[in-house]
Amino acid sequence: MLEQCRHARYVWNLALEQWSMWTRDKAATPGYVEQARQLTEARAAFGWLRAGSQTVQQQALRDFDQAARNFYAGTHRRPTWRKAGLHEGFRIVGGQATRVVKLNRKRARVLVPKVGWVKVQLSRAIPDAKSYRVTCDRVGRLHLAFAVIPPPIPAPGTGEVVGVDRGVTVSAALSTGELLACPGLSEREQVRLKQLQRRLARCRRGSNRHRRAKAAIAKLSARAGDRRKDWVEKTSTNLARRFDLIRVEDLRIPQMTRRPKPKPDPARPGAYLPNRRRAKAGLNRGILANGWGQLVTRLEDKAPGRVEKISPACTSQTCSVCGHRAPENRESQAVFRCVACGHQAHADVNAAVNIAAGRAVSARRETPIRVSPKREPQHATSA
Ligand SMILES: [Zn+2]
Repeated sequence: MLEQCRHARYVWNLALEQWSMWTRDKAATPGYVEQARQLTEARAAFGWLRAGSQTVQQQALRDFDQAARNFYAGTHRRPTWRKAGLHEGFRIVGGQATRVVKLNRKRARVLVPKVGWVKVQLSRAIPDAKSYRVTCDRVGRLHLAFAVIPPPIPAPGTGEVVGVDRGVTVSAALSTGELLACPGLSEREQVRLKQLQRRLARCRRGSNRHRRAKAAIAKLSARAGDRRKDWVEKTSTNLARRFDLIRVEDLRIPQMTRRPKPKPDPARPGAYLPNRRRAKAGLNRGILANGWGQLVTRLEDKAPGRVEKISPACTSQTCSVCGHRAPENRESQAVFRCVACGHQAHADVNAAVNIAAGRAVSARRETPIRVSPKREPQHATSA
């Protein structure tokens, strides 16, 4: 399996290299058809490549072609290098992807080309899919995912609207007054992570100790990631089931979590003033650890057309009862007290009520993008 991953990664990176070698004075770089022909030649010349599955390698080219198209369409960023241990995976399509035998309620076996029958543990019923992807995460766990879009969660039809305020101390505050916390690492695990990171910094690169420390860190981070994902899935399903309309702030998370600009010192040229970079790094970690982006992405998947994005301006300073807006309203991190009407509430809940009542802003592009029929099925919102 890992060898197949390596082949897919190698072919993808080669395709990316070819693609990025284009300059103004050169003709177009080879497209998918030409690259597929070159792959056939390469397979004829190199035994180690021939030993792998052609489907896997060809799909890597096709996936790259799709990535380049997405880049030109403006919906995705530039395709990036696939890194060992980080982006391990391959895709099987067509007839080869349908060789699945269910063994019992919990287990099935899948015939992976060039690998043989592989037993898998089922996390849900086997869907009627035309392709699947095998991935290996940083901890070395293999996952097999069938590409199929589950039907959206139906709206309850009660006409209820909920506002969701995402924060760092409280992961998500609902306009109903609920405060939800995204689980991360426990206190002890955080201490352990810090220790391991220090140990890693002292190890010589490439040594066995370095490798072991790195693996231990990856294991802890994977645990935090799993918990976060579990919370995001449960919370998004819960919200989609309970409310007809879900309003969230339209946050630009990549921009928000950018590192601060260096501040040049006007008195001494070439020197810099403190720019609170470490403090910002801590906040960024908090933002990313709370799965803000994932929550909204999954909400849009599960409740398409029922998620509205609201301009986040002043939601935390405005009174949700009388509408008075002043920075003094926010007494502290957690307490909101209106200086005009005296309304008092949890600051995040007050913001969530404002969001629930908010005005929608369109963050999505209006023109539909042409999508290849060969592409893996995509959610309507992520076209
Ligand atoms: Zn008020």
